Amino acid sequence: MSLLDKCYKFTDARKVMAMGYYPYFREITSEQDTEVMCNGKKMLMLGSNSYLGLTNHPKVKEAAIKAIQKYGSGCAGSRFLNGTLDIHLELENELAKLVGKEEAICYPTGYQANLGCISTMVGKNEYIITDKYDHASIIDGAILAEGKMLRYKHNDMASLERILKEIKGRNSLIVVDGIFSMEGDIANLSVIIELAEKYNAEVMVDEAHSLGVLGNKGAGTTAHFGLTDKTAFIMGTFSKSLASVGGFIAADEAIIHYLKHKSRALIFSASLPPASTASVLAALKIMQEEPERIAKLWENTNYMLKEFQSMGYNTGASCTPVVPLHIGNMMTTFNMWRRLGEEGVFINPVVPPAVPPSSCLIRTSFMATHTKDQLDMALEKFRMIGKELNII
Ligand code: PMP
Repeated sequence: MSLLDKCYKFTDARKVMAMGYYPYFREITSEQDTEVMCNGKKMLMLGSNSYLGLTNHPKVKEAAIKAIQKYGSGCAGSRFLNGTLDIHLELENELAKLVGKEEAICYPTGYQANLGCISTMVGKNEYIITDKYDHASIIDGAILAEGKMLRYKHNDMASLERILKEIKGRNSLIVVDGIFSMEGDIANLSVIIELAEKYNAEVMVDEAHSLGVLGNKGAGTTAHFGLTDKTAFIMGTFSKSLASVGGFIAADEAIIHYLKHKSRALIFSASLPPASTASVLAALKIMQEEPERIAKLWENTNYMLKEFQSMGYNTGASCTPVVPLHIGNMMTTFNMWRRLGEEGVFINPVVPPAVPPSSCLIRTSFMATHTKDQLDMALEKFRMIGKELNII
């Protein structure tokens, strides 16, 4: 038996490919917008996380180009040593101001922000408590941490309280997605904070899908609930509403100071490239100066939720721009993905191991820049294919 055998014996994805049902690593040859060129074909994009539609905004692109002209293409080092630019500091100030915390620190990706913060903060004999539907980067941060992970049932506050009771007030960090990335529902933050106060736990909210979506000027879930002061850590990514790549943690000055000197995912990894940093600054400015974009995102979201539901689709607990269509059976889900693709609609199927075999779904997501005509065209296809496959 060789270490490499597992690769040569790995056939799951190849079997799916051979059947013509392979929805991954699709080649896109255009900008990430409401329409994309995918495998040589124009498709309506209902699978992007660019909720505000800013990845192709002229001011965002111009900021990136100017930053490359001034700073070059990369920083060739970590923030800790030679990789801190003035625009990194400016961005961190803006982010802290937006989410209402004293300071912020940027990581090269959102994944690393979760990994770096959680693994640094939860030490030996301490606990990290996660929702069963939390993002993989939270789980991976918990695996890397020296403390122990305990998981509660999705958004089930009785299940969370049972765990908090069990660990009897020992140091713990509850980490939740603000908006859950597949379900599109919102964390029950008011109760989570109440329980955290009762049992002396700290709270961290992952705002990946809620920045630019919830809260005043897109400040996120904690702002939406007015619970910023009671939430120790606010985490966000730049890869969704903020039109780039990278992530951040915002918290009190002492906490950020600690992370800056202890977080290995930050210290031992290169800093955010100039173009990404400048794009995020430009996107943040547009997001705050043009609240009508967020209003349009919600108009599109509410329209699609209502139309899907009246057609007979099961959208679960979604109440945000992330709208899953719960299909159940895996082959039906793959068939739906294929038929939608043939009709020019790009969506993401969610199948095992991401979900149990009988809980497959089609994940759709909506953008402020989708037009009513585009959404109506999509609905027409969903109606036709849903009937064809006996889903609705
Ligand atoms: N948290 C959540 C909830 C996410 O959905 C994602 C990305 N899908 C991340 C963190 C990781 O962020 P990034 O892709 O920016 O590294």
